[in-house]
Amino acid sequence: NAPLAEVDPQIAEVLELELGRQRDYLEMIASENFVPRAILQAQGSVLTNKYAEGYPGRRYYGGCEYVDIAESLAIERAKSLFGANFANVQPHSGASANAAVLSAIATPGDTILGLELSHGGHLTHGMKLNFSGKLYNAVSYGVDPETFLVDMNVVREKALEHKPQVIIAGWSAYPRQLDFAAFRAIADEVGAKLWVDMAHFAGLVAAGLHPSPVPFADVVSSTVHKTIGGPRSGFILSNDADIAKKLNSNVFPGQQGGPLMHVIAAKATSFLLAAQPEFVDRQERTLRGAAILADRLTADDSREAGVDVLTGGTDVHLVLADLRTSPLDGKQAEDALHEVGITVNRNSVPFDPRPPMVTSGLRIGTPALATRGFGDAEFTEVSDVIAAALRPDADLSSLRARVKTLTDAFPLYPGLEQ
Ligand code: PLP
Repeated sequence: NAPLAEVDPQIAEVLELELGRQRDYLEMIASENFVPRAILQAQGSVLTNKYAEGYPGRRYYGGCEYVDIAESLAIERAKSLFGANFANVQPHSGASANAAVLSAIATPGDTILGLELSHGGHLTHGMKLNFSGKLYNAVSYGVDPETFLVDMNVVREKALEHKPQVIIAGWSAYPRQLDFAAFRAIADEVGAKLWVDMAHFAGLVAAGLHPSPVPFADVVSSTVHKTIGGPRSGFILSNDADIAKKLNSNVFPGQQGGPLMHVIAAKATSFLLAAQPEFVDRQERTLRGAAILADRLTADDSREAGVDVLTGGTDVHLVLADLRTSPLDGKQAEDALHEVGITVNRNSVPFDPRPPMVTSGLRIGTPALATRGFGDAEFTEVSDVIAAALRPDADLSSLRARVKTLTDAFPLYPGLEQ
């Protein structure tokens, strides 16, 4: 029972260093967040010891009476938070949730139609090296080359052309809301199932600040660790009883063995927290922060420096900076921001003239800083720092000092030691 620092000082040091990094940098990777201490506690608990193959009340192992309570709470809370009749909370990750979804609603060889990866789609929506692209005949719709928006006429044309069995609405890098009713109508027209992957915007949906896909989709999948801010994991919702049955058997035994009961307990707590007024306040600050950032990156001085924002703004928790006319490419911009203490990821813009390892864009998100406590004033300051850092003549060391003022004012996990 010796502590980690004694058992494995090298790994203990990694934990210490990572905590320091998270404290000292401003985290603006759009898919990241900070879990509350309660989630760290649930995830670091003895529930990790328990095998519980099966579902609550129907396990293949003895001694599941307490983990059953945790999973039932997670299921009921997910259903109530999102207004769905069915929830499966066992997927280890977003990708494994998506694998289960496709195996439940499609047969290998079927055609699936999703957003093109380089236009903001996800690997699991049909990328050729991913299971989704290997097992299924993946075709895609892209964004409009002028507006960078998903054009529902194009989605309909592609659906009529390819007659997919599954249409996927969802994204990893898209700054606007999708029209779920229009997707539903197209799916009905071509006899496809509609699957919405709300991994990125689920927290906004839970807060009532983004339209819910649940009334429109046959299946909705999500992660818990992005805007929701819970443990790294996935879940699946549906209102269709037949699909629900298939989803359960395609998660277990279809995709997974024993569920991660410590993570499922943490999911239950996350869904509980997501129903509180503080959660809505956090999502509101997240959205306002992204809008402030978009504003700052479309100001005259940013545009003069060759920086712009795809679609001219945002409706969600992220902004896609467009560097196609900037002397800085995505890699250089990511490095410059790292130097001032801001973590983002470079991202291809649709029709990107630069190669994927370099790119002409940045994906910048506000969820983690909203969790850290940022409001309008701090988001304005960090947006100004980003805009300044993206200018060719930027004084990076003075910008680093401004970032330090922000990190000092909003201590992360005060009192926590790893
Ligand atoms: N779906 C979407 C839309 C995502 O953006 C992501 C994560 O980036 C995933 C699924 C996969 O989640 P995970 O990384 O947990 O497998």
